[in-house]
Amino acid sequence: MEYFCKSCGKRKGDDQDWLLGFEGSGGPRKVMKYAIKLLGKWDDQRASEANAVHFCSTACQDKYFWQNYGDENWAA
Ligand SMILES: [Zn+2]
Repeated sequence: MEYFCKSCGKRKGDDQDWLLGFEGSGGPRKVMKYAIKLLGKWDDQRASEANAVHFCSTACQDKYFWQNYGDENWAA
């Protein structure tokens, strides 16, 4: 299975320590419509889950998070 960084598009190699998150995992409606849960580490078992998102680095994870979930002012 191949994984690509959700932020920069880089392909994951076997020896790289990537980060894993899960999007829109369907919590109660009262919370954010597009929720994301950042795992803060890589988990091979869960990396192939349908709502998993993959990041090559903390920088990419942060960038994606702020662009999609953070304050709009940040992206300007
Ligand atoms: Zn990246």
